[in-house]
Amino acid sequence: MDFTISPVNKMIIKAAKDFSERKIPAIEAYMKANNDYPPDLMEIYAKNRMLGFNVPREYGGIGTSNFNMILYIEEMGKTASTCFLPFMMNNSVAETICHWGSEEVKKKFVPPLCDGTAWATMAFTEPDTGSDPKMLTTTARPDGDDFIINGTKRFISMANKPGYGVFICKDLSLAGQKNNTTAFIIDKSSPGISCSKHYELTGLEGADTCDITFTDVRVPKGNILGNQGEGFNILLRWIAGERIQQAAGMVGVGQRAFDEAKKYSLQRVVNGMPMGYMQGFYWMLGEMKVKLEACRLMVYQAVCKQDAGKAFEVDSAEVKVFTTPMIQEVTRMAVQFLGSYGYSKEYIVEKLFRLAMHQGVVASSLEINKTIVGMTALMSRSK
Ligand SMILES: Cc1cc2nc3c(=O)[nH]c(=O)nc-3n(C[C@H](O)[C@H](O)[C@H](O)COP(=O)(O)OP(=O)(O)OC[C@H]3O[C@@H](n4cnc5c(N)ncnc54)[C@H](O)[C@@H]3O)c2cc1C
Repeated sequence: MDFTISPVNKMIIKAAKDFSERKIPAIEAYMKANNDYPPDLMEIYAKNRMLGFNVPREYGGIGTSNFNMILYIEEMGKTASTCFLPFMMNNSVAETICHWGSEEVKKKFVPPLCDGTAWATMAFTEPDTGSDPKMLTTTARPDGDDFIINGTKRFISMANKPGYGVFICKDLSLAGQKNNTTAFIIDKSSPGISCSKHYELTGLEGADTCDITFTDVRVPKGNILGNQGEGFNILLRWIAGERIQQAAGMVGVGQRAFDEAKKYSLQRVVNGMPMGYMQGFYWMLGEMKVKLEACRLMVYQAVCKQDAGKAFEVDSAEVKVFTTPMIQEVTRMAVQFLGSYGYSKEYIVEKLFRLAMHQGVVASSLEINKTIVGMTALMSRSK
């Protein structure tokens, strides 16, 4: 596989670096002061041509590759800001609606996710499960031309922001059938919807991840995404893309941790010389660099398969299984490099370390992905 960075890829990386330097400090300052995203964040993204990356132009998108999007995310990851999450969410949900939606659904719901007027959400997790569709208790009951939704979704990113979400519900009209989940596109300001306070998270500070509760929320049948019974498949395809994007962000996080460790090791004098020249430290740097490079290549390989229209779901699970512990280890090593300074909030490496921890539990857990990879290997006829 050829991972040559083309002139267009280079332009994307330059644009992402430029955005990260010019805009993210102010976004971060707002998030620190308010423990939330700036209300105009989507407008900022739209103005900087960051929405609808992988969405055709006719629906308001940019119509470029997933590869370009993950290059952008990798750069954003280097800033250690949580603001890459809503960027990923708007892009990936818009693409998902484009993939599964009817012409009418696409025309109605995709443009607002690309022009910055709507914040996207994708919701599966509930208080009793984040992994098992059989355990879902949020129900959709048919009623004339509508469905009535009841239940609670837990840990939902951007649930309390204006816009649309794709909500995976147990479809009561499919009771007794194996595939009984249906995806509904729901306006998050619909009557009967309420949200909890957002969770205080270990690393993704300011991310407004909260519970969203539906009490007799009426949704037109026309808002069904794909076909009835396809809810879990829609989630699985979306989450496969999300895992690659998340891993790209974490490669950026790891790269920043490496850069900080290297910088520190050239400045800090131990035993009369910069500590980086002690063998133990250049071994550590070497290990960090190789781990990062392997993660990056794996992410690029998976996204190239996605762009080529090939099945990429298992590759994406492999990416999670490999990169999660690698990046966590790279960021831990960076903390160790800086000694007590690394353990202090004065230095960014402690934030990078906490940020890397989220990859094992968000956008499907590490264990679920090991299960996907292991079971696929077991069932495969090839050796
Ligand atoms: C910051 C943040 C943002 C999030 N955003 C969203 C969002 O936007 N939308 C959304 O739907 N969810 C979201 N989530 C939820 C997240 O995706 C789930 O928490 C995650 O999928 C794991 O589900 P769970 O916590 O319910 O774990 P469970 O499914 O209850 O599992 C508990 C533990 O058991 C393990 N386990 C479960 N089943 C198996 C198995 N078969 N074999 C081996 N081990 C197993 C899991 O790996 C885990 O360690 C978010 C979470 C966080 C923290």
